[in-house]
Amino acid sequence: MKECNGDAAEPPVPPGLHRSPEAPPSCCARSRRLLRDNALVLLTVAGVLLGAALGMAVRPLDLDEAQISRFSFPGELLLRLLKMIILPLVVCSLVSGAASLQPAALGKLGGWAMLFFLVTTLLASGLGVCLALLIRPGDGAQTQRGEGEGPPEAKEVVDSFLDLVRNIFPSNLVSAAFQSYSTSYRTEAANSSQDNVSAHGLVNRTDIKVPYGQEVEGMNILGLVVFAIVFGVALRKLGEEGEILIKFFNSFNEATMVLVTWIMWYAPLGIMFLVAGKIVEMKDVILLFTSLGKYICCCIVGHVIHGLIILPLIYFAFTRKNPYRFLWGIVTALATAFGTSSSSATLPLMMKCVEEKNGVSKQISRFILPIGATVNMDGAALFQCVAAVFIAQLNSFDLNFIQIITILVTATASSVGAAGIPAGGVLTLAIILEAVGLPTNDISLILAVDWLVDRTCTVLNVEGDAFGAGLLQVYSDRTAKPSFDDVTLMSVQVVNEDQPEGNPLLKKDVCVVDGCSPSEKESTM
Ligand code: ASP
Repeated sequence: MKECNGDAAEPPVPPGLHRSPEAPPSCCARSRRLLRDNALVLLTVAGVLLGAALGMAVRPLDLDEAQISRFSFPGELLLRLLKMIILPLVVCSLVSGAASLQPAALGKLGGWAMLFFLVTTLLASGLGVCLALLIRPGDGAQTQRGEGEGPPEAKEVVDSFLDLVRNIFPSNLVSAAFQSYSTSYRTEAANSSQDNVSAHGLVNRTDIKVPYGQEVEGMNILGLVVFAIVFGVALRKLGEEGEILIKFFNSFNEATMVLVTWIMWYAPLGIMFLVAGKIVEMKDVILLFTSLGKYICCCIVGHVIHGLIILPLIYFAFTRKNPYRFLWGIVTALATAFGTSSSSATLPLMMKCVEEKNGVSKQISRFILPIGATVNMDGAALFQCVAAVFIAQLNSFDLNFIQIITILVTATASSVGAAGIPAGGVLTLAIILEAVGLPTNDISLILAVDWLVDRTCTVLNVEGDAFGAGLLQVYSDRTAKPSFDDVTLMSVQVVNEDQPEGNPLLKKDVCVVDGCSPSEKESTM
């Protein structure tokens, strides 16, 4: 049998002749190159599958909590490594991204990205509501009510939105790296003027909820994102004086990406143990599926439709490129999202994938992806809509048209406030339920199955960000392409060169066609 060795398999070259450089590589050489190019993708996918198999194999051993935590240790390490890299990555990439683009180009890119994020999140919300009304996951789920973990504290809708705005402007940048602002409530006895007097003259003391603010555990990534963008713009405005800091952030960013490359090779092993650990940890799976199976299916089917049909269609419609090839390029990041349930933790690998596999430029990926990982959550909006309709059905609450629109709008808005961490979306689900007057206690049911739904949800969240970056790249390529007019302008500029008061606009266009560095090229958009 012939050995599968690319070099050995090639036909010998007769003496005196040179092998043509255009000779197509042999089949074995091609498959070897294919394997080498996709080694990480294959390893990551294998990590997910092996993790599921390992989890199933270890499950019958009935490990206690301490044993499970030791068993999941390699997975925990991956999470720690990824979380470690988030802060320097987000801050440095946004500062250098914002500083490398002209304010007008920055505004244009940011504007298009926000529009894409808004439209796709609204579409995901609409799909979630339609599926939930069609599948009716709340019917037949009544038997399990009241089970599961306790719900998170319900916040007034207005307080939730005020907290979002407060977090955009952190009062302390250092504490924003590990704390966010959140409103809580304490109950106080009402004073006598607020007491209700019943028909029989009895006084009903009513307690009142008094809001107070506190810093809670968890990075205020929204505040850091906004600060980093504004700081980058300010550095650019400084001109020469700002150059040194821009260079500092650029090289910090590059060094961080080198660390990401190393972490990537550990990801398959980490993901395998994250998945296996979760399977071992699961309580009664059969009971969960028989009671909440329709809800789980509804969410997952929605995530699959949005991720495999709607987003690819939008990408294809605008770029005429194969969206599934684009998806293949980011499989490693998608598998990481599945394993970690965290968009923030997936961000470093996603940047690497879109830059190296999908040809997205650094300026675009490092500017758009951190913003997307913070504010764009198609998967969260979709599952929140399903959950809201599910809870309404559970309580035999008929939603009218206005309430459905309220769910769509609040789900889109609250997904912006959801943190890119495991179960981040469940915490903001209370906003939607409060807005339509549904009981927030039933969130405990959603929490019981969130470990599973959150995985496909996070995959969709990060996929939306990546498609956004891909679309912006195509947009930027189209607008930056030298046109016939540019070339004409260049020759005019050459003619004008001797004139001291040459048109600055012409200078800019010459730069575009004259082989400037990519950053200069894009800065002229
Ligand atoms: N886990 C999700 C994410 O990190 C957020 C969510 O719970 O919806 O994107």
